[in-house]
Amino acid sequence: MFTHSRKQNIVELCQELIREKSISGQEDKIVEKLKHVFTALGYDEMVIDEYGSIIGHIKGKRSGNKILLDAHIDVVPVPDATKWKHEPYGGDIENGRIYGRGTSDMKGALSAMICAASYFAEDLKRDFSGDIYVSGVVHEECFEGLAARKVSAAVNPDYVVIGEASGCNVVAGQKGRAEIVIETYGKPAHSATPHEGINAVYKAVGLMGKIRCIPSTHHDLLGDGLLELTDIMSSPYPGASVVPEYCKMTYDRRILVDETRETVLKPILAAIAEQEKEDRDFRARAFYACGEEKCYTGQTISGERFFPGWLIDENDDYVRAVYDALQDAGLNPEIEYYKFCTNGSHYAGEAGIKTIGFGPSFANLAHTVDESIDIGQLLKGAEGYYAILQRLLN
Ligand SMILES: [Zn+2]
Repeated sequence: MFTHSRKQNIVELCQELIREKSISGQEDKIVEKLKHVFTALGYDEMVIDEYGSIIGHIKGKRSGNKILLDAHIDVVPVPDATKWKHEPYGGDIENGRIYGRGTSDMKGALSAMICAASYFAEDLKRDFSGDIYVSGVVHEECFEGLAARKVSAAVNPDYVVIGEASGCNVVAGQKGRAEIVIETYGKPAHSATPHEGINAVYKAVGLMGKIRCIPSTHHDLLGDGLLELTDIMSSPYPGASVVPEYCKMTYDRRILVDETRETVLKPILAAIAEQEKEDRDFRARAFYACGEEKCYTGQTISGERFFPGWLIDENDDYVRAVYDALQDAGLNPEIEYYKFCTNGSHYAGEAGIKTIGFGPSFANLAHTVDESIDIGQLLKGAEGYYAILQRLLN
């Protein structure tokens, strides 16, 4: 569908974006690069918000729906580059694959989106109804959906396409995620006379047993609402000859649709209340973890670690339109669900905007040593975005 030179441009843009190292909070260079890219590809305007996310905008000649193609521009670090066969920020091509941190997650998708939108507008000489926005969002890897709040406020889209890797299938939902902190409190004492103190770790272990008995919630499409202990820490640490007075456990909770801040915490608070009844020395608290990160703009991004799940009906008009467009373009998509968290937690889960996922490459390549993207997938992704725009904006 695309000419040879267009295909070449998509591949080269992906390579160029890989070369702009953009660990979360250090996305300034890639944003600078994207400014030039949006200008060169004929975007009408662009904005950079206070967190540093960049949004390119193409206006149709006629008014209509606003479509947001969403990508994050931050990547996870490369802890040990010596384990890589390819330069992590080189964008090398070998055997039909582009290598580098962010190829699959998700600079490949971003390159495909940026080019597809530009080619679509160029081919139609902008004679279409509506507006196309392409976002390059910061800080997704640590805070899925938080920086996206500013993007949806700025754009107010009717439809969102999340470009996270889906193997060019249509994604109709995902589980959400929360981080729950549970603290138990004791009383310090010399470990030679432990009966004079209250060991906060023993109290935590008792509670942990109760928490493991909480039955998982379940959703037929998304699976189980898992609750897993991810770390435990006592204080003082190291605790030489002292009974610890404090213990903190962190739990990762995978959230299904319709679960709220309250319903997720409720069984944990009930377990604490039950333990309190059985043991008059037992004192504990449970709450959502809060995070705070610096943006390259100097702004601080912070919030509770509660990112809701979302789901869109497979028979919804939007899903059908995207599915049919991809089918007609020869992509033969399937409907599936993301197993990981994305900015969709905000767009669909918080803001209630009609959202689907569609992206080139595969999730199991994200965050890996020698991360790469198959060029065939990359180009198929671009064709898919083009087909989606064509269907929704004509
Ligand atoms: Zn990602």
